[in-house]
Order: sequence, then C-alpha cells, then structure tokens
Amino acid sequence: MPIYEFSCEVCGHFFESLIKAGEDFPACPQCGSRQVLKVPSIFSFRDASSTRAAREKAILKRARDYLIDGKYKDAQRFLEKAKEFHPTDRIKRLSDALSERKPTSGYFVSKPELVITKKKGS
Ligand SMILES: [Zn+2]
Repeated sequence: MPIYEFSCEVCGHFFESLIKAGEDFPACPQCGSRQVLKVPSIFSFRDASSTRAAREKAILKRARDYLIDGKYKDAQRFLEKAKEFHPTDRIKRLSDALSERKPTSGYFVSKPELVITKKKGS
C-alpha cells in the first residue's frame, strides 16, 4: 500500500497517509479539513533524473516555505524526516539550527541557511 504525502489547504499541515485504491483523501489530522492536496513525494525518489543536489534543494526549499509561513513546527518535523531519507550536511545543519533555536515573536531563525531574518511588518 503506497504512502502519500498531503498538505492541508486550510492550516498548511504536512502529513502522510496510506491510501488504498479508490479511497478518498484523508482528513487533515490537525484541523479535520478535507481540503487536502496530494503533494509529490520528495522522499520516494522515483524520478531517476533528479539528482541528489536537486532533491536537497527541493527539501531545503520546502523547509523555507514552512518558515516563511511561520510554520516552525512543521518545518522542524519535515526536516527530521528529511534527515532520515536524505542526510546531507546542509539538511542536518538546518535541522540542528531549528532544534537549538526557537524563534521569538516576529522573528525567525536567522542562520545563513535560512535567508529569513525578520517577518515583514512586525
Ligand atoms: Zn489542516
């Protein structure tokens, strides 16, 4: 049974679920919404043409997207998983940076890896 990844359109939560053929998409475990999107799995690596560097880039980009949206916990959880599947130095560093440094209100983690230093308008 294949595992699919989903992201919730309402709260942005990222999760995985087992889906049998013909089954509906699962509800978001965080907010219960059924408005979920199936996302291409970064971890399945079915695409033989995608290089290791391209995968790393995709993983780092998604982590940044979470941070830009202020979804710190999702970013952290995502990177924990990314480390298992794709343990590169940059991914490990970013994950470690997030674990050791909690953002304070209006600010985000400001490691060189992250670009984002302060939320606009706050
Ligand atoms: Zn949700």
